[in-house]
Amino acid sequence: MTAGARLVVLGKQGAGKGTQCLSLSHHYVVTHVSTGDMLREAVKQGTSLGMKAKELMGRGELLGDDLIMEMVSTRLNESDVKNRGFILDGCPRTVSQAQRLADFLSPVDLDLVIDIEVPTTQVLRRLASRRVCVDCGANYSLTNRPTIGWSCDVCGGEVIQREDDTEEAISKRLEIYEAQTAPLIDWYLDRGQLASVTGTGSPEAVTKRIVRAIEDRRNRKGGRFS
Ligand code: AMP
Repeated sequence: MTAGARLVVLGKQGAGKGTQCLSLSHHYVVTHVSTGDMLREAVKQGTSLGMKAKELMGRGELLGDDLIMEMVSTRLNESDVKNRGFILDGCPRTVSQAQRLADFLSPVDLDLVIDIEVPTTQVLRRLASRRVCVDCGANYSLTNRPTIGWSCDVCGGEVIQREDDTEEAISKRLEIYEAQTAPLIDWYLDRGQLASVTGTGSPEAVTKRIVRAIEDRRNRKGGRFS
């Protein structure tokens, strides 16, 4: 078991953030906090947050920074995250969210921000083929299907195409990524907090690269995070 960490994972839609965050959360024994998963759960439960989120998510647009940061700060205040740390997936998505996250975490900042780099041509192919479990969020694709029909191997839930993985919503999401989220790469680079990792190849190979980047950073900090 490796000591906990406070990490953010960035990358275009389809870069493999969900898969990598899950592996990293097991490796570092820390909680995977995915804003997309939290919002999809709210939609499923029909909460007032879910009702606000549904339409914007379906169109591939971002929810407001206030709403997101309130949801995220509430989650980051819970004891599992406070005790061991977190891997934040899907947030921040704007410079304003990044600034507010840093203010919230102050005086202890993030240990590292990992940017998973995958060319757009490849993420488009991955997104068109992506299928997910409605219950546990496990990822599949047209070439990596569940063993029995479209029932999730992990929990038996139904495996479907995400509503926002339509061609129209995908191009909107990538456009928003370039305009609002990509500037975070320079923002974190300027703060000396970024490690870029090549996201092509097998998921296991990408995980190894990410863990190596995290351990390099930890060693440079004298073997300790936070
Ligand atoms: P994801 O699963 O991370 O691709 O998120 C799915 C959708 O949830 C996004 O397209 C947005 O509509 C919404 N969303 C998730 N995280 C955020 C965020 N940090 N800021 C604004 N909207 C978000």
